[in-house]
Amino acid sequence: MKENIHPKYYQTTATCACGTVYEIGSTKQNLRLDICSACHPLFTGKQKLMDAEGRVSKFKKKYSTVSAQPKAAKKKTTKKKAKK
Ligand SMILES: [Zn+2]
Repeated sequence: MKENIHPKYYQTTATCACGTVYEIGSTKQNLRLDICSACHPLFTGKQKLMDAEGRVSKFKKKYSTVSAQPKAAKKKTTKKKAKK
């Protein structure tokens, strides 16, 4: 190995937000993780989402008040089709 170009390699711990602690080798010490294989939905098989409502329902709620615009857009498209 060439000298003075490699970062120091530590034997340290990586602590997840769920409480799981991993003994790992890393160039950084005392890592904090948001998610790990012990608590990630892919590995647990459980659905655990911060956005429980869902993006589609949120979108529908946001644009439920806007009802006049789609009609105007439809008129424009029909005009274009008529020209062709
Ligand atoms: Zn975890």
